Amino acid sequence: MRKIVSVSCLNADLHCHSVHSDGTLTPAELAARARAGGVDLWSLTDHDEIGGQADAIAAARTHGLRYLTGVEISVTFADTTVHIVGLGFDPADTRLGQGLADTRDGRGPRAVEMGQQLAQAGIPGAYEGALKYVSNPRLIARPHFARFLVEAGVCHDVSEVFRKYLTEGKPGYVPHRWARLGDAVKWITQSGGVAVIAHPARYKLTPTEEYALLSEFRQHGGLGVEVISGTHSGQDTRRCAEMAREFGLLASRGSDFHGPAESHVDLGQLPPLPGDLTPVWSLLEAKIH
Ligand code: AMP
Ligand code: MN
Ligand code: MN
Ligand code: MN
Repeated sequence: MRKIVSVSCLNADLHCHSVHSDGTLTPAELAARARAGGVDLWSLTDHDEIGGQADAIAAARTHGLRYLTGVEISVTFADTTVHIVGLGFDPADTRLGQGLADTRDGRGPRAVEMGQQLAQAGIPGAYEGALKYVSNPRLIARPHFARFLVEAGVCHDVSEVFRKYLTEGKPGYVPHRWARLGDAVKWITQSGGVAVIAHPARYKLTPTEEYALLSEFRQHGGLGVEVISGTHSGQDTRRCAEMAREFGLLASRGSDFHGPAESHVDLGQLPPLPGDLTPVWSLLEAKIH
């Protein structure tokens, strides 16, 4: 364990994805890129999957990065998909492992159905096409389909895919019930980690639902919100900083990097946290590799 010398000037990037979920780089490639981007404290947070943690820990050591174990759990709250990041947990914890396995379970059948829907919309072979982009057979996600739709010439890029397909009301969208909020927070906290609401500005919740999310998250033992995210605008950041203040939550920071071709914000290339907020990593010193 190494101590954080100065919390305030630390370049922490605690949210990104590898080939173990829907990212396009390996944990080792991400670690090298994080190092090149000036990251001091890093976490790999694959969707519903911790199979990349051992490689990430080893690569972080090779590149002299401080590291926190990470995951991003898919949750259904108020009929909306909400993502909960877990940081600093014990990856060998069996209840966490089982919870993630259960959460991943429905992805296979969902993907088959997505393929059927796209075929009905005149795009054949999407399931098989998406599989070519999947490295981890346990984890097929919408970006794998999006990459195939770009390859097939249906759209110019992945963002266009998400504007025209795979989202609510569009062809290829299959509603899915993910983990419960309380369960996701419990798996993280009971394995020694801290739970953080990922990119809170991205959810289409009413003000009442958003209030319920934040208060229930707190009641379940959640402690943090991502204030700085590669997917947030400046206005989103101000709104999330207000959430942290109002609900007494710690602030996190992460690029949500998925790969050089798809992510606008690279590892470590993020504004600092607002100075009055307490960084989530101030609680996690003992968990740093
Ligand atoms: P899934 O877990 O299969 O529902 O896939 C969710 C993933 O799709 C997210 O983690 C993002 O990587 C990606 N995604 C969702 N919405 C968008 C969007 N509007 N633009 C680009 N990527 C998106
Ligand atoms: Mn993703
Ligand atoms: Mn997310
Ligand atoms: Mn993410």
